[in-house]
Amino acid sequence: MVGFLIAERTQLFIEVRKQTVVLSIADIPLAIGLLVVPSVGLLVARLLADLIVLVIRRPGPGKVLFNIGVDATEVAVAVAIAYAIGIGGGVRSPMTWVAVGVGAATADVIGAVLVLIAIRVTGQRPGLQRLASLCIPALVLGIVGSALGLVVLLVVSVNPWGVVLLLLVLLVFALGYRSYGRFLTQHERLGRVYAFSKMVESVHSTSPVVAELLDYVRETLNADRASVWLRGSAGQSPDNLAELISAGDSDDTGRAGPDRIPVLTIGADSEQVRDDSGSTDDPIREQVVADGKTRLLSARHGRRPARKDAETLRTRHASEVIVAALRAGDEVYGTVEVADRRTKFSAFSRDDIRLLDNLASHLAAALQNQQLVGQLRHTAYHDSLTGLANRERFAQATQAAVDETRGSGSVVGVLLLGLDSVRDVSDSLGHDAGDQLRIAMAARLADHVSATSVAARTGANEFAVLVRAPDLSTVVDRARALHAKIHSPVDVAGLTIDIGLSVGVAAWPDHAGGGATLLQRADVAMGVAKNTDVPIATYHASMDHRSLYRLQLVTDLRTALATDEVSVRYQPKVLLNNRELIGVEALLRWDHPTYGAVEPDEFVPLAERTGLIGPLTTHVLSTALRQCRDWLDRGLRIAVAVNLSARNLLDPTFADKAVALLREIDVPADLLTFEITETSVMADPERSIPVLHRLHALGLGLAVDDFGTGYSSLAYLRRLPVDEVKIDKAFVLGMGTDLGDLAIVRAIVELGHSLGLRVVAEGVEDELSRDLLEGMDCDVMQGYLLSRALAPDRFDAWLAARSVPRPDQAGLPGRRLQIPN
Ligand code: C2E
Ligand code: CA
Ligand code: CA
Repeated sequence: MVGFLIAERTQLFIEVRKQTVVLSIADIPLAIGLLVVPSVGLLVARLLADLIVLVIRRPGPGKVLFNIGVDATEVAVAVAIAYAIGIGGGVRSPMTWVAVGVGAATADVIGAVLVLIAIRVTGQRPGLQRLASLCIPALVLGIVGSALGLVVLLVVSVNPWGVVLLLLVLLVFALGYRSYGRFLTQHERLGRVYAFSKMVESVHSTSPVVAELLDYVRETLNADRASVWLRGSAGQSPDNLAELISAGDSDDTGRAGPDRIPVLTIGADSEQVRDDSGSTDDPIREQVVADGKTRLLSARHGRRPARKDAETLRTRHASEVIVAALRAGDEVYGTVEVADRRTKFSAFSRDDIRLLDNLASHLAAALQNQQLVGQLRHTAYHDSLTGLANRERFAQATQAAVDETRGSGSVVGVLLLGLDSVRDVSDSLGHDAGDQLRIAMAARLADHVSATSVAARTGANEFAVLVRAPDLSTVVDRARALHAKIHSPVDVAGLTIDIGLSVGVAAWPDHAGGGATLLQRADVAMGVAKNTDVPIATYHASMDHRSLYRLQLVTDLRTALATDEVSVRYQPKVLLNNRELIGVEALLRWDHPTYGAVEPDEFVPLAERTGLIGPLTTHVLSTALRQCRDWLDRGLRIAVAVNLSARNLLDPTFADKAVALLREIDVPADLLTFEITETSVMADPERSIPVLHRLHALGLGLAVDDFGTGYSSLAYLRRLPVDEVKIDKAFVLGMGTDLGDLAIVRAIVELGHSLGLRVVAEGVEDELSRDLLEGMDCDVMQGYLLSRALAPDRFDAWLAARSVPRPDQAGLPGRRLQIPN
């Protein structure tokens, strides 16, 4: 029994990962007992030893029963086998040796199998490897232990004092084994530190391995958890740190994979922390940061930590931790810590403190590298002006979101926001002002976009937001909410600027098969939003053709101007009272080689947005003036009206160009009228009204086109230096059938006259309308009733067929024509 007790106390522990293999030397007393005490006595001794151990250690009841059961079984098996083979020959008989050896070994193996079964019962599933790792040592131990027991008996049978000699030999062996074990551990650890330093060296941009390194540290110290904690103030933005720490880790919490336990604790204010970590007022971290010394706190194996330390351990749910400093030069920028040895039979020691210290210096180097890499990555993936992600980063994030969402039934939406007026702001207030506007916009976006989505600057005046939502309509709702939130005037350079904001929405999988096309689709939708003046447009397949078509048109328009694809047609304007032909309106026509006739309503707005309107207007103006000159040369006095767009009025050189052309082509200024719309004037009255005054002062005519559709503001009409107001054709077309339209036409005629303006009705298609207009005293008519817009040769033919010289002016140079009826 004493032997068994000694054996229980001198169990050898071998740490194998989480498990500790317990090697018992109980086979020595077992072998001796088999030969010297009766079998029942042996069993009793064994169980008594167990009971005493029980009293000392007080394990749980399940464990007691199990241990007693296993031990009893082992003794019974050993006895049965030994007796079966036969130990009658006594200690000197080799037969007895075999009997005892086989008995002890078999008993041990059965014990190991029972332990395995117990592990299985508790829910774990040990593999075959575990079976081998338990049974083989058991087998070897059984044989060696029983052999030793037999040797003891043999020695005693010769001379009892021989035991002393034997013990001496064993003692030396044991000591030797222990230091060899230490040596082995030390050796292994050195190897691991070396391997770690190699790992650290190989850390570069493509291997974001902080989590892996930490796991290695944990593994090396055989600890349950390892954490890295970084101070938020070591010169890096917390954002950057978070990125660094979670680099390569698809799991957002910054934790490594599911079967690895390390927790990457992220700095102070980040949310990515596990309950216990991250807090800055952690006393042990403070101490380590203050003096850089590695510390061990332990409440294991009867150690009693100070109250403060106990509290620290409690917040970590740990019984022991070692905390070491991460240093950059003299500064400690964080800590690395390990908690809880994975086996409960041993605890962290002084060796472990040194080991962690060593690993921490390597880890610090790795983190520094990673930080550099992180900074580089940050610049590579962020817009330098606004700090938002850039187009590449956004494209990556979109693709990643699509990949993650696949199969989940949710959608990934891209909201593309275009700022409409930045160009004008930059033009008039300078580039800084434009940038201020962009920065202000970026800040608003960053404020309103939740932490889980990505906001990016994807173009000069273009921002994008990534949205994950259960369905498309939620994406559209978000777009609306975002638009409402950020669409308010911005203060720039002391001015409050109203920014135009067009939002294009596209979602996967509704509109695109992958992340790459998603942004493109949102772009198409945004283009439509811009064109159609709706704030938000959601992608639709039909838009694509449309936008491709437009893109093609813009490309072609540049070259079309140089060829004769683009031409000018002339539509006559006649005085209602005496049917005198007073002029024509010059209207653009584009005969596209593949698309055929392209409507000016289609390509003029395109030209306006792409900066082509300048050359286009010059083209019409010079063509029309040459035509006018041609008529003058033939003795015909026909005025020409040319349409202007808003951009022409913002061009400070426009008036000069017009004057130059009038001189060059030699046309009197009073034969030229510019038609402008209220909307184009209102786009920027401050700049366009002076231009209008300038033109008016030159003696040419100005007409307000499409009156009745825009602001129709009497106050503005008064401010504008105009001679003519053109009633929008929509009212004229409707006046024969719609009393409302009729009333509007009448009101405009009266209003125009009250302001001393000539009133023109365009869109006169029938005689009824003409007669009504005549009855209202409207001045001029224009419309299909007279003629469509005609190419010059057709116009000449029309003139020849439909007009006669005004009787009083026949034969005079610059004669006027009349349209009889
Ligand atoms: P707008 O200035 O209001 O031109 C009058 C439009 O009404 C012309 O269409 C003309 O063909 C059409 N029209 C004339 N009489 C009638 C009629 O009796 N019934 C109907 N239903 N329509 C009639 P068009 O030529 O298609 O031009 C459309 C618009 O394109 C013009 O509207 C003008 O805003 C723009 N545009 C045309 N040429 C130029 C140009 O050289 N420069 C600029 N900036 N814009 C131009
Ligand atoms: Ca017009
Ligand atoms: Ca018009």
